[in-house]
Amino acid sequence: MNLDDLSYESRGGTRGDHSITVYALSTCGFCKKALTFLDENGFSYRFIHVDLIPVETKNEIKATLKARLPLRRHRRHFPPRGLHPPGLGKDPGPRVNAMAEKTTEQTRLFTRMVAQKQGWELNPDTEFYDSLVDGLTTNFNRYGYYLCPCRDSDGSREQDRNAICPCLWSHEDVPLRGNCYCALYLSKKLVAEGGSPSSIPDRRYGD
Ligand code: SF4
Repeated sequence: MNLDDLSYESRGGTRGDHSITVYALSTCGFCKKALTFLDENGFSYRFIHVDLIPVETKNEIKATLKARLPLRRHRRHFPPRGLHPPGLGKDPGPRVNAMAEKTTEQTRLFTRMVAQKQGWELNPDTEFYDSLVDGLTTNFNRYGYYLCPCRDSDGSREQDRNAICPCLWSHEDVPLRGNCYCALYLSKKLVAEGGSPSSIPDRRYGD
């Protein structure tokens, strides 16, 4: 497919010396940070939220990019290999189950309970934390479960089961690396030492 035919949103800046295209998740705190970085530094760029486009188009994008780019081992990589549940299009559309929707306050409570149960800390960067809470809430109300806000859906709860928060890998990543992939949860040690969460690889697909 011709990637230039996609409906990107464009942001104009004073710096047009690089050709920049961002394939982002609308729920991901790091994606939001990346876009903010580009804005604040005056870059011109285009972006598209891949979790909000029809699954057929997304699969074509994934195949095209996969053929072009050796991105598998990048910390934040596209294509995310997930698929949306059938029927989800540009607008996420009707929810895929009949469970009550979550509010952001309920999601905050959920994250506090997870942190307490696991012996972790929540990210003290309140703006970043809030963006992840928004992403988790969106995903719950879209899929019916707390899919990781930094990962795309593979198409069903069963396929996503390891990426439901707290994800399978977080139980190793937080104690060993100091934070989970999204940096929603931090180890008590990292917080006590005043450290910052670091970029860690997504091991969902074997990295
Ligand atoms: S624990 Fe896992 S699923 Fe939850 S926010 Fe962190 S990386 Fe995402």
